[in-house]
Amino acid sequence: MYVDVHSHLTHKDFASDLDQVVKRASEAGLSAIIVNGLEPESNRKILQLAEQYPIIKPALGIYPIDAINHLADQIPFPVKAFDVDQEIAFIETQARAGNIIAIGECGLDGHWVGPETFAAQERVFEALIDIAVQCDLPLIIHTRKLEERSMEILAAHKVTRVDFHCYGGKTKLAVDAAEKYGWSFSIPANSNRDGAFQKLLRNLPPDMILTETDCPYLPPEKGTRNEPRNVVGTIGLLAEYRGWTVEEAAERVWKNYQRLFKQG
Ligand SMILES: [Zn+2]
Repeated sequence: MYVDVHSHLTHKDFASDLDQVVKRASEAGLSAIIVNGLEPESNRKILQLAEQYPIIKPALGIYPIDAINHLADQIPFPVKAFDVDQEIAFIETQARAGNIIAIGECGLDGHWVGPETFAAQERVFEALIDIAVQCDLPLIIHTRKLEERSMEILAAHKVTRVDFHCYGGKTKLAVDAAEKYGWSFSIPANSNRDGAFQKLLRNLPPDMILTETDCPYLPPEKGTRNEPRNVVGTIGLLAEYRGWTVEEAAERVWKNYQRLFKQG
């Protein structure tokens, strides 16, 4: 049983062969693929995909850059305009109806945009945290360069059900947060060529490790399109580092997934 807790199967790169991608994931042994939303279009498509494919579990969110689409002059690439508060309300409706497995992705980004946008990002992040807490749903967090601030906000809201996706901060900060708050960290499939992710695989508490792809991004082989079945490679690495069999590593991560997302 393998799981990908962070994918973007709504991406245009999957438009022509999604059936095949999902089939390959099942054949590789995956039993769940969480597709994460970014803005109105992907959020709605995810709900459709979840109806179409039982393996797909929906998470709705607002990407931190999309969360500040009204500040277009501060963003170094084009972002589609939409009403963020309307989208927060849509996510809340879906969460209350029990239609989603998590809120995500959401969080704070200090890589693409600067401090003048942080207050606006935090407003949206906190609104989504409130929905997650009220509906008892886990949060899937994107944070770049603002790991400590994101953790501070989550701790202030007493959030317990958290997965940090593609975490790029200090290893010690992650290990401490995992131990202190019970927060999880999902490790991408490019961990085969990324020392920081390998360090997390070696050092995180075993119960706080999950697997993800962030596909189509972060492929194990540079220049290729990533897809959910590639989580299998990360499980192989985890088994190697911890002295577990591959079956044991897969089972542990699967149980971590079931616990955090209350599945099965
Ligand atoms: Zn993502």
